Amino acid sequence: MSSTMPIYQIYAVKYAGPFIRPMAKVIWNTDWEKEIHINYYLWVVKGNGEIVVIDGGMTPLLAQNMKLEGYVSPVEVLKRIGIEVSQIKRLIITHMNFDHINGVELFPNATFYVQEKEFNFWVKDPIAKKPPFLMMADPVGNEHLAKLEGTKRLILLDGDQEILPGMEVLLAPGHTPGLQVVAVHTAKGKAIIGSDCAHIFANYEKEIPSCFINDMVAWMRTYEKIKSKVSSLDLLFPGHDMKMWTDYPKVAEDITLLA
Ligand SMILES: [Zn+2]
Repeated sequence: MSSTMPIYQIYAVKYAGPFIRPMAKVIWNTDWEKEIHINYYLWVVKGNGEIVVIDGGMTPLLAQNMKLEGYVSPVEVLKRIGIEVSQIKRLIITHMNFDHINGVELFPNATFYVQEKEFNFWVKDPIAKKPPFLMMADPVGNEHLAKLEGTKRLILLDGDQEILPGMEVLLAPGHTPGLQVVAVHTAKGKAIIGSDCAHIFANYEKEIPSCFINDMVAWMRTYEKIKSKVSSLDLLFPGHDMKMWTDYPKVAEDITLLA
């Protein structure tokens, strides 16, 4: 890394949870009799005068409809570290599942970065209307993004791409057809915000994804790829692990500094 490379901080922002889930959902086909707690998160990358939000969380309306426990609107949680949603200019969407895109409408001035493959699947592919995909889809978020197609506020990416110096997205399919992870240069080295590429750290440790898997073979190749890019495995962050809320320095209620 060059010495002029900007250094960023990564924050995990819990906006809902904890929830209890069967272990077999979180670690594919494993420990059917056990249960585990998870949270819902979005992430903030800050540094070099930039603030980039990773994923949009969920609106109060959907949270209310789902009776989501421990929910606080992303608008309110982000205020705890002095961020107004209206000031956010860049929001990277890792993938288009409901808990990651429903809240994009809360960011009125953001340009959204999503893989074209992911966008085309959820918005245009008839297969995305089949029951297993509908369980994870979000018609509201899909429509919000679809309306922005062709405008400056939606950037459809084709594979790995630098977003800012020291910050790039990596195409990482498996969980969904066009999931992307975000590789960030931090004081500890290159960290990767993996989102739901894995639900918890143990998915990476065991090399078994969650049960929400669109393509297991693609997932294994993705894991090899991102493992080769991250400075160390403890800098590869999953999408829903409780540890991101409990095991890192707390900077405000529900917000921790990951790296
Ligand atoms: Zn998720």
